[in-house]
Formats: sequence, C-alpha cells, structure tokens
Amino acid sequence: MGWPWSRQPLPHVGERDNKADNVSGQAATQEFFHQGERVGVLTTQPLDRLLDYRAPEGGCFLGAYVEVPLGPRKVIGVVWGAGAGDFDSAKLRSVIRVLDVAPMRQEMRQFLGRAADYTLTPMPAMLRLATRAPGLSDPPSMRKILRRGDKNPDRLTDARTRVLEAIEHYGGLAFTTGELAEMAGVTPSVVKGLVKLGALREEDTPRDVPYPTLDPQLPGKELTQDQADAAGQLAEGVASGAYGTTLLKGVTGSGKTEVYLEAVAACLRKGRQALVLLPEIALTAEFLTRVEARFGARPAEWHSGATMTERRRVWRMVGQGGAQLVVGARSALFLPFRDLGLIIVDEEHDTSYKQDDGVLYNARDMSVLRAAMCSAQVVLASATPSLESWTNAEAGKYTRLDLKSRFGVAVMPEMRAVDMRNEQMQPATWISPTLRQAMRSRLEKGEQSLLFLNRRGFAPVTLCRACGQQVACDHCDARMVEHRFLKRLMCHQCGETKPLPEECPSCHVAGKMAAVGPGIERLGEEAAGVFPEARIAVLSSDLFGSARALKQRIEEIAAGEADIILGTQLVAKGHNFPLLTLVGVIDADLGLQGSDLRAAERTFQLMRQVAGRAGRAERPGQALLQSFQPEHPVIRAILSGDEENFWRAEAAERHAAGVPPFGRMAGIILSGGDVAQVFDLGNTLARNDGPLRQIGAQLFGPAPAPIARIRGRHRVRLLVKAAKGAPIQDAVSRWLAPIRLRGDLRLNVDIDPQNFF
Ligand code: ADP
Ligand code: ZN
Repeated sequence: MGWPWSRQPLPHVGERDNKADNVSGQAATQEFFHQGERVGVLTTQPLDRLLDYRAPEGGCFLGAYVEVPLGPRKVIGVVWGAGAGDFDSAKLRSVIRVLDVAPMRQEMRQFLGRAADYTLTPMPAMLRLATRAPGLSDPPSMRKILRRGDKNPDRLTDARTRVLEAIEHYGGLAFTTGELAEMAGVTPSVVKGLVKLGALREEDTPRDVPYPTLDPQLPGKELTQDQADAAGQLAEGVASGAYGTTLLKGVTGSGKTEVYLEAVAACLRKGRQALVLLPEIALTAEFLTRVEARFGARPAEWHSGATMTERRRVWRMVGQGGAQLVVGARSALFLPFRDLGLIIVDEEHDTSYKQDDGVLYNARDMSVLRAAMCSAQVVLASATPSLESWTNAEAGKYTRLDLKSRFGVAVMPEMRAVDMRNEQMQPATWISPTLRQAMRSRLEKGEQSLLFLNRRGFAPVTLCRACGQQVACDHCDARMVEHRFLKRLMCHQCGETKPLPEECPSCHVAGKMAAVGPGIERLGEEAAGVFPEARIAVLSSDLFGSARALKQRIEEIAAGEADIILGTQLVAKGHNFPLLTLVGVIDADLGLQGSDLRAAERTFQLMRQVAGRAGRAERPGQALLQSFQPEHPVIRAILSGDEENFWRAEAAERHAAGVPPFGRMAGIILSGGDVAQVFDLGNTLARNDGPLRQIGAQLFGPAPAPIARIRGRHRVRLLVKAAKGAPIQDAVSRWLAPIRLRGDLRLNVDIDPQNFF
C-alpha cells in the first residue's frame, strides 16, 4: 500500500476542515444519518483521510461499525461523521451494511484521536488496534446445543445411558455434541443417535454469551488497618464517578492485589466495568482463581493465549455490557468498553507495557488518558514504581497510597551484597562459595532457592580460542548466543539460528570454539554439578513452547516441585513461591553499565522485585547480590532499603540533565538496506530542523542506533529533546511532514522512548 511510513504523523484525518471537531470526537453535530446521506468513514486501511459513502438502507448511527466497498474489496470502518461533500456524488457508493455490534462510543473515538495525536500514529492504525477481534463482520453466529428431550429411547445401551446421565447430572445445562460425547466417554455418533430418537433436543444459541455475573457483595479477605485504609480511599475515588489516578505502592506481598480488588468491587457495585491490566506473563491461573474466589466467577480474559472465539466474545460482550471485569494484557485497553469506571495497571513499572502492537504506546500512560475521557479511576500498582509515576505523585498529580509492610508474618528479606572481589572462584563458575553455602542450608531445610540471571541461553559469547574472533549474526549487529538446549547459536535480535561451528568461521581452525560467560542454561549445569541431588528448574521464556506451558511450570514450582529455580527476568514478575527463602542474584552489576538513561532505575526495580520473591510466606527470606562494585550507589540503595532516597537522587540527576520525566524526548529510527541512503535521509532531517528549533528543542544525530543493524536493515537514530512543556508532537509532525520515503526506507517515531535500541 502507499503508506509512506509505518507511523505517518500527518496529514491526520483531523486536518479536514469540516471534520476538525469530529475527529477528536467532540461536538459531533449529527448523531444519525438517514439512508442516502453522506457519511465520512474511517477505515482500517492505510489511507490518510476519511472516505465518503452514502448511508445504507435504514440509515446508520454516528460511530456505527460498517462494511464499505473499497475498489474491488470490502473493508471495515467506523462512521466518523458527516461526509465532506468534496467527492462527486454520482460516483458515491453506499455503505454495504451496518455490523451487528454496538456503535463506537464518542468517548472511544475521542480516546483514539487523542492517543493518535500523542503517539503520532495514523488513525487507521489506531482503529486496527481497536478492532483486533476476529469475525467482527460475521453475522452473529449461532451454534447448536443439546438439552434433554422429552422422549426416552426404547433401547438403552450402556453408552446411551452414560450420555443421559451426564446431561442430567448438570441439571438444566446445555452442551454441544462434542462436549457431551467427551463427558460421557462415547463417540459423537451415540449423541447424534439420541437426538434422532428425541431423547436429546437441539437448540440454536448465540455463540457469544455474556460472562457469568460477578458478585461484589461476596466478602473479601479481612484487611489489615493499612490495607483497609488504602482500599477505602480507592473505593471512595471509584464511588465519586470522577477521574483520578492513584499510585498504590507496596512491597511485594503487602496485599496490593487484595486492596485493588476492593476498588474493583466498588466499581462493580456502581454498575460500571473494570479492567485489570497485567504484564502478559503475570496473567496466571493463580490470579484468575483469586478473582473467582473474591467475586464468585471468573472474569473475561484478554491475552495472546486466548482463542479467536474467546477474543471475539470478549470484544462483543465488553461493548454490550456482558462483561463486568476484563483481566488482560496491554491491548485490552483498546476494547470497546460500554462504561469503564476503573483501570488497574498492576506492576505499572513493567517495561512490557510499552511494546509495539503495530502502534507504539505506553499502556500505563494511555490508561490515564482513557480514564480521563470516561471519568474513570486509575490505580497504578507497584512495589517499585517508575520514576514517572513517582514524580507525578510527588507533584500531586497522582494520589499516593503506601502499604508499608508485608501481610501477616512475612517480612522483607534480609539483603546483602556478596563482594565478588573476595570470593574464591573456580574458572567458568558463577556461583560464589558464600551463595553455595546459603543454598545448601536451604536444601537441607527443604526450602527453595532462586538464582537470577538476566541472560537467556547457555553462553552470551562464542569465540575462537585460536584467533579471538566472536561469532556474530550475519544480519544484525549482534553476537550469536549459544543455546545448548536447542543445540544451536541464536541471534536475540532477529531469531536467526545456526549450528555451532566445528571450525572457526574466520580462521578455520577446528576444535577451538569456546563458550564464554554465563547464560541461564549454563548456570543450570553449574547448579546441577554442585547439587546433584537437587531438583533444578530453569525458567527462561525460550525453553517453553508456549506461555501456557511456562505458566504451568511456574505453578508446579510454586507447589514445591523444585529445590533450585534458575530464572531470567520473567521470574521477577509477580509470581508467588511460598517455599522460596533465598534469592541469589548472580550478576547484580549487569544492568549498571550502558548508556540507557533508565539503567539505574531498571536495575533498582529488577533487584527489588527479584529480592521480593523470597520469604513470601511464613519463612523469612534472604537475598544475596553478587557484585564486583558493592559500593555503587544503586547497589547501596537496594541494600539499604531506603527507596525514597534512591528515587530522590535519581530524580535530581534526571532533573539536572533535563531528561524524562523532567524533559521530553522523541526517538526517530530510520532504517533501510542501504546504509548511505539511510544516513542521507538522517542528514536531510537534521538540516531541516526548523520546526524543532522553533520550540527550543535539540536534535541529536543522525547516529548509528545502538543496534546498528537488524535483519539486514541498517538503523540510524535521531533523538529530539525538548523542555517539559514543549509541544513536541506538533513540532515533530511538522518537521516530518514534507518527508517522502523512497524505496525500502522506513521511519518510526517513538514518543517517550523507553529503550534506546
Ligand atoms: P501484592 O499484590 O502486594 O504482592 P498480594 O495481594 O498478592 O500482595 O498478597 C500477598 C499474599 O498475602 C497473598 O497470598 C494474599 O492472599 C495474602 N494476603 C494479603 N492480604 C491479606 C489479608 N488481609 N488477609 C488474608 N490474606 C492476605
Ligand atoms: Zn540477527
């Protein structure tokens, strides 16, 4: 398609004069369009404007989801306002039909418009994000279900009896043929036979049915004073029916979940809908079970593991009010809620809230935007908030609630550095004698230890001991990482793999290739060597075929099916291991190097989260941080437990540097196959930075991006830095507007970049 770049800032659909207010969703003058009237339709196709059509027979509402002809195709769109009238009416085609889903609400149109403006995303891409459910244009689909009929078969075989017993066992419930056959342990033909005989009756029922009702009146756990105070304040906010954001800060295990479930209860009592966002990996069965225990039924789930049918059901039911609570990953924020009253962002600091869903947005920030538009409350929950949220709370923009202690007898683990300069280490080992000793004592007591190392694979570097050459990816500017489990080398940028070379690709000497440094798999080998009697579990996202398999393994481990757990950063995310009493951080220095402005913050968060895994139940925990620089301010802040001090120091440093959250940034990544062309474009942009200078912004680059090549595409970065109040989006879009991308050149804008890759 002719979309010049993946995130074209302008022209925005809102630029059309007569639509200026419709696109932002405000003051749409006309709510209904009669047959034949001109309507402007926003489609999911990458076009830079609305398309005009005639309203179909029966007319259509503003916001209606429609199917329209586009060339020879039929595409989905939303009626965004009146037509512009500048298109020849003789050629004007008609909307094919109005889809059988609730029209998009004004508040949602407004939200998409504002989110597009903020992230400099074209509206069609926003609409795609908001219509990520399969089969939206299908007619409401029906399925056949079976109930007990009024006849009895003349001849009752064993199999037939089992079927009838199964259906009677569940009272009046209805089942599909497949379900019933499975429950009774018979073939579907037995079931079909009973239908013919009239012993079972077939009925049509809509495929998408409302979710079971959640009951907010069921009693929650008895809260501690601290918890009750926080829950009371949150509930008050929800009851007010107004917008507000609260930072709920509390150490892991302090009962944040219990507390925010009370806010959910208050929201449901008010008859409004609630959304709980979790990082994908934290969306566990354990969490859903807790919701079920609190409200008597399971909520709607929205995540990458959900089936297509389930996604469609969630999408439709949310719009019709057939789902009171959605628990989901970040894109759940773009579901068409009918009356959203509360958004919880759990683990709000988690970097996975900002990832590319086709649109680069931060779900935490967009939650606040959406809530402001529908008068909802936001709760940002974390043990280690982002500096952004901490600062907003300091500035009084967010309310802050603190849960100071862990629930019950659990206390924060004792944290200590292991000074690696004083440890006697054997070559190619990473578990220090001090840490081993601590692990041994856990093993003897039947308690669990967790070793944390944020490096997937077996070894981060494979080099030739003859010539010193390291094995790199052919397509990326990255080293290949050995994965012994897969028996291959893998590039973590593009996923390319190749076999472990027998001889050096560079000097061709054979038998000299060596693994250097530890990855989580190698650490697993070391642990197995030291503790041959222990049951060892390695948790790394790439060792599991599916998120489901990984979650299952985590649940087994929580139930005690391992003595030593080794994990990458995914273990830091909100799992509950009651038997865990020791956490060993293999390389606490790992995140401290690097030019990322958030390096210190990330390390601090990660270490505190990991340490928070220990001693969640009755047994006190200990965390040992292996470090070669225990005197580093970040390590010291982690150990001292004086978090406020760390945030204050970090805030002061960023303030002085004028970087987020005390300044604004936008990253521009240019990429293409030809490095000279990519740089040419970068230089053109740098020469024409007038719009940026007008707002006092500085431009850095073009420079090779930290990862200068991915999948054979060269990457060049420009960085815009502006003062806090500066209209950076406006300036960036004016700056980029004249650019036409040729050939395979791509341009991506990242507002408030989190990663500098
Ligand atoms: P967080 O979300 O802060 O990590 P959780 O809400 O998961 O904390 O609470 C940690 C554990 O303590 C959970 O098993 C939870 O059920 C339990 N818990 C917390 N508060 C209470 C309470 N008031 N009564 C009973 N159990 C509680
Ligand atoms: Zn690669």
